[in-house]
Amino acid sequence: MTGEFDFIDNLLNKTTKNKPRFSAVKIGIGDDCAVISQNSKTDLVITADMLVEDIDFRLDWRRAEFVGHKALAVSLSDVAATGAKPLWAMISIGIPEKIWKTDFVEKFYAGWFDLAKKFNVELVGGDVSRTPDKIVIDSIVAGEAKKNCAILRNGAQAGDLIFVTGKLGGAAAGLRLLESGFRFDSEKGSRKNFIRKQLAPNPQIEIGLKLSEKKLATAMLDLSDGISSDLSHLCRASKVGARLIAEKIPLEKNLLQVLKQNEDVISFALNGGEDFELLFTARPKDKNKLEKLFGEKTTFIGQITDDVGKIELARESKIILLEPQGFRHF
Ligand code: ADP
Ligand code: MG
Repeated sequence: MTGEFDFIDNLLNKTTKNKPRFSAVKIGIGDDCAVISQNSKTDLVITADMLVEDIDFRLDWRRAEFVGHKALAVSLSDVAATGAKPLWAMISIGIPEKIWKTDFVEKFYAGWFDLAKKFNVELVGGDVSRTPDKIVIDSIVAGEAKKNCAILRNGAQAGDLIFVTGKLGGAAAGLRLLESGFRFDSEKGSRKNFIRKQLAPNPQIEIGLKLSEKKLATAMLDLSDGISSDLSHLCRASKVGARLIAEKIPLEKNLLQVLKQNEDVISFALNGGEDFELLFTARPKDKNKLEKLFGEKTTFIGQITDDVGKIELARESKIILLEPQGFRHF
């Protein structure tokens, strides 16, 4: 078996993508959400995400509330990445008996419902089962986009500008701190902030919705694996290349605190996953509009090129090739 992205490409070839037939499926495998025609005014978007104990989270690193928060947040982030409004969710958990007997489940749902309330998401189903050893969580979220307004990965064109929301590198810094033995409850200041970013990310629903409502983004995805990987997915889908400008990358404050000797802060931020910010492209003529609308919440970081598949980084008057180095399971 090859890597996980080739596996997904193979699955796509087995679907009806290349065989046009009457179907409500507008976008299937390959984007942040599937997009399904619903009625004359709206399209349905839907996404599934799996979290596995000791692979995607560790019980000794976090309160159970944070696991519940993150299980929902990662799916909400995919809905945000299509510019849609999240509405319904299903959550399934497989859990070993020894954990079932603790207060884990109650706290997990407390964290899940807290975030659901914030975005008015309704739990409409799920499943529960027993596992021999580790916790497995499957999160499904569905939402709605205005007809033909879902923002996909494949709409970027050469000359479009690249933007990102928020600051980058915080979640990767949090992961490093957790791996080095720091814990949320015993930290304060920027260390606590980094750990929170890793354990309880904030999905960028409002910005996603505004971008689709005002038709300002030509393509978009959320940053789950690290910008070096995620931008390459967007470029592949849009059949374009990209050039980022190193000095423009918005870095989380105080990242230097967690860097190793001689480690480069820009590479750390570009390769670090799980920031769950949005990466989007827009027409140059809309730059002022975007700046007015979002202020410092979004940052211009580069431009789409016609050099298909090539991701470059302009840095101190040099251009270097950026290899995708973000997180992957296989
Ligand atoms: P994201 O990081 O945005 O959640 P993924 O990298 O997990 O996206 O998935 C990319 C695309 O592949 C999505 O469209 C997803 O629905 C699809 N996908 C991933 N795993 C599977 C699978 N096992 N079966 C079918 N589709 C899958
Ligand atoms: Mg995504």
